[in-house]
Amino acid sequence: MGYFGNVFGGFGSLLSGMSVTLRKFSQTVIRRKAVTMQYPKELPELAPAYRSAIKLIRFEESNSHDCVACKACERICPSYCIKLSGGKVEGIKKKRVAEFEMDFALCSLCGLCLDVCPTDTLEYSKVYEEAGYNRDWRVDLLAEFRDYEEEFVAKQRVIEEKAAAEKKAKAEAAKKAKEAKKKAEADEKADNDSKEELS
Ligand code: SF4
Ligand code: SF4
Repeated sequence: MGYFGNVFGGFGSLLSGMSVTLRKFSQTVIRRKAVTMQYPKELPELAPAYRSAIKLIRFEESNSHDCVACKACERICPSYCIKLSGGKVEGIKKKRVAEFEMDFALCSLCGLCLDVCPTDTLEYSKVYEEAGYNRDWRVDLLAEFRDYEEEFVAKQRVIEEKAAAEKKAKAEAAKKAKEAKKKAEADEKADNDSKEELS
């Protein structure tokens, strides 16, 4: 961009900034619209794009999260703030996370962990009232799920058994159909052979 382009660009940016100032001035001074609120008696209405500490989603159908301990989020996190472990659980095929610690003193809310999660089980929370007396912001993300884990495993076992039974029934039906087709072909061939012999 040339000299005059820079001048006009700067002027445009100045005008856009001034228009925001004038709009707010008109709302607060001329129209007397309050810009403060009686917090905590009144609570703010958060913007749809508001993002705060990462959390695990509780899915309605399972009443639990869907973390399979793949560690993709831990590997991609640029701030090294995720520590998790997990794996096979007795009685079900699905893997489950057993420990999931997040250090929010390090998290920059970049969202990379959300992007890579294969089960879409991470999201931004809407919390805004965090406060503490020290810098230890390590949080156990599984704390709210532990009491429901047995229930989840029992439900998952039923789902997996049903899926296995359906798969078995499908395989048997396919096998039977294949055998019937083979038999029909053999019968047709025998028919043709006997017709040839007669002619
Ligand atoms: S939002 Fe970014 S910094 Fe925070 S845990 Fe996820 S990947 Fe790490
Ligand atoms: S990427 Fe998702 S499924 Fe994998 S460990 Fe992280 S939260 Fe769990």
